[in-house]
Order: sequence, then structure tokens, then C-alpha cells
Amino acid sequence: MAGRWQVRLPEGAVMSLRYGRPLVMIPGPSVIPDRVLNAMRRPIPNIYEGEVVDLTYSLLERLPAVARTENRAYIAISNGHGAWEMAITNTLSRGDKVLVLEVGHFATNWAEMAAMSGVKFEVLHAADRAAIAPKAVTERLLADVGREFAAVLVAQTDTASSVRNDIAAIRRAMDDADHPALLMADCVASLGCEPFEMDAWGVDVTVAGSQKGLMVPPGLGMVWVGPKAWEAHQRADLRTAYWDWTRRTDPDAHYWIFCGTPPVQHLWGLAEALDMIDEEGLENVWERHRVMASAIHAAVDAWSAPGGLELNVVDPAHRSNSVTMIRTGGVSAQQLRATCESEAGLTLGLSITGNADAEFRIGHMGHLNPPMLLGTLGTIEATLAAINAPVGGSGAAAAAQVIAEATTPAPRPPAGPEDPWS
Ligand SMILES: *Cc1c(COP(=O)(O)O)cnc(C)c1O
Repeated sequence: MAGRWQVRLPEGAVMSLRYGRPLVMIPGPSVIPDRVLNAMRRPIPNIYEGEVVDLTYSLLERLPAVARTENRAYIAISNGHGAWEMAITNTLSRGDKVLVLEVGHFATNWAEMAAMSGVKFEVLHAADRAAIAPKAVTERLLADVGREFAAVLVAQTDTASSVRNDIAAIRRAMDDADHPALLMADCVASLGCEPFEMDAWGVDVTVAGSQKGLMVPPGLGMVWVGPKAWEAHQRADLRTAYWDWTRRTDPDAHYWIFCGTPPVQHLWGLAEALDMIDEEGLENVWERHRVMASAIHAAVDAWSAPGGLELNVVDPAHRSNSVTMIRTGGVSAQQLRATCESEAGLTLGLSITGNADAEFRIGHMGHLNPPMLLGTLGTIEATLAAINAPVGGSGAAAAAQVIAEATTPAPRPPAGPEDPWS
């Protein structure tokens, strides 16, 4: 507060630094690009013919590429939970049993929804703070002599723990047991963030939502359906009118693609988001997410100190590139989050494992660049200092180093006098 001149606040007034553009870094909904928001800001056109119908068919043609598949995609007006239900009701029957590979919360939540429709499930838990071990999957499926499991449910990234599973390895594990179960992957938190190859990895059903890696407001559930899942669909008895794939496939009735009125503005938003992904290149999108995640991991490692912060996921190979869960030791995660929000305009994700004061999460999915990332980490670092948390070193500096290593310098301008006004 030293200085020759200082603002005198009115009696009782408290100053906050938060009055710039707020930043919400929660693991979904993610930051929506201005381009997407602007693309959606249009009045309703005729939905029965013309532009909206063409747009719908073009999106159905474009969506398979995002999941790296030749398979058909379905779009529902729903969130991720709706997409879960679409996957279940279209492929399973009452009394079927599914194997849930759990590394946090989400795969079990998915199975609990199936259970309400009469599906039985068994949960195979990974080791604490780690991904599913493929060998455990093989062993459990080999023991399923009667081939009771109709499907294996797994989240590529579990958004609660920030563990990322190796989907290709899980497929190989299922093949090693020669088990016919469908492989259903929840990619809500990872599609458009992590490498994902539906066809090459042998995934039968892929589930995603619009509001995470795909940068569109919540409201679109998406499901990609492989040939084995389509076969199962013919036998499934949980089918319901709203979610039914067959009805939504009728080539002469585009009205049934959404089982009613299409989500027009969301479709414009999705088209714009897919344009942005195409312009950047899907591999570049994945690589950008990897670099951003590495910077966060480096920051937390640098901060870590006895009684202080540490990454939840121990093995770097098991860490998500779209969300990071951080354990705060003796530091109050609630105080940290509340201070970031009220004093700096930065919203961090809260824990959803029941340890709200000992954990927090950073969402780093979708529309994210270094100013947003380093701003987030610098703000956390300042807040840690402000609340007297124990910290080892500068996480912001460690993250900047990771960003520097991934940065290609622009060419230097030619030497000589330069007059920008001439
Ligand atoms: C967010 C999320 C969901 C649920 O999506 P909603 O849109 O909130 O219904 C499911 N699975 C994973 C892995 C998620 O991250």
C-alpha cells in the first residue's frame, strides 16, 4: 500500500479486483466461443423445409468424424444423462446385466439409470486414484462363463476424479476374454479433447454432450452407434418412443430425427463449433488440450507442499486432458474457491465426491488458450498466498515453462527503423 497517492475508500467499503470479464473454469458447461454464441443469435426460420433440414442432414454427416467413425450419429434434445438413456434403452432388455468399470462416479451413475429400467449391474472398481487395469477386465469377463454381461459401461474421462481410462486397452481386454458384450463409452467430458477412435478401438456405442469439449451450450445429447449395437437394437425390449433409433432413422421423415421440433439455435451453434474444430484440425485440438493439461499438472506439482495441494491422479498416464481434480490437504478448498470467485472473478469447479472442503476441480476443455489458463493458475497462486496456504514453489512459473516449450515464435520483423504511422 506504499505510494505517494492512494484512493481513499468510503467508510466501510471493501475493494475487490473481480470487475473484469468473469472466467468460469468448471468441468462443463465449458466456455462458449463468441463465434458459437453469435451463430446462435438468429430468429427461428421455417423448420419444415429449407435451411434447417439441410443443416440437420449436414450435421449428421459431419458428426461421425469427431468420434472417428463411419457409424451413424443421433442427436437428441437432452443433456448427457439423456444420451445415456438413449444408449441404454436402444440396446438392452429388462433383466440384462452390465459390467460397470468405475474410476470415480459417472459410469455407476449411468448404470443406476439403466437399473431403473430393470437392468442389473455389477461394478468393477479401479485402484484408488487410478485408471481401470485392463487385466482385471479380462479376468472378470473370463469368469463370466454364462456370458451374462450384455455390455461394458465405461467413461473415458471421469469428471469427478479426473481419471482417464485407456479405451483401446479395455477393448483388447474384452477381446482377450473373447466376450461378446457391447463396449459403451461415455465421452461426455472427453470428446473433442482427448484422442478417441471409435472404429479403430472397436467401441460399439459412444455417448457425448454438446457442452464440454464441443463448446456448445448444454442441450444436445449425441450417440454414435456401431453395427453390433445396431444388431442389439433389433432385440432390445427397453425401447421407448422418444429415444428410439429406428424411428429417428426414417429417411423420409426428418421430423423424427429429433422426435419433434429441432433444437434450431443449438444446431447453428454446433455447426459453428465443428467449423472451428475443422479449422484447427482435430489432432491439433487434442494436442492443445494435452499441452494445457500438462501445464496444469506442472503447476500443481510445483505448488505441492506438506499439508498443501496435490494432484488426485497419481500416474501421469491416467490423467485426463480436460479436467483436473486437485486435493488440497489442510487448505480449505471452499475458502480458496470462494476467494477466487469473489475477489478475482474466477469460478473453479467444486468437488463432487463428498469432500467439498478438501478438493476442487479445474475444467480445461474446449475453448481454452494460454491467457485463460495462465490467468487461472496465476489467480489460484495469488489466492493461495492470500489465504496463507503452504506452497512449495511457483505453479504459474512452472506452467509458463510448459507453455513456452510448446510455443512456436513468430518470425522477427526485419531489422531497421520502423514507423507504424507512415
Ligand atoms: C458431464 C458428464 C455427464 C453428464 O452430462 P449432463 O449433461 O450433465 O447430463 C456424464 N458423463 C460424464 C463423464 C460427464 O462429464
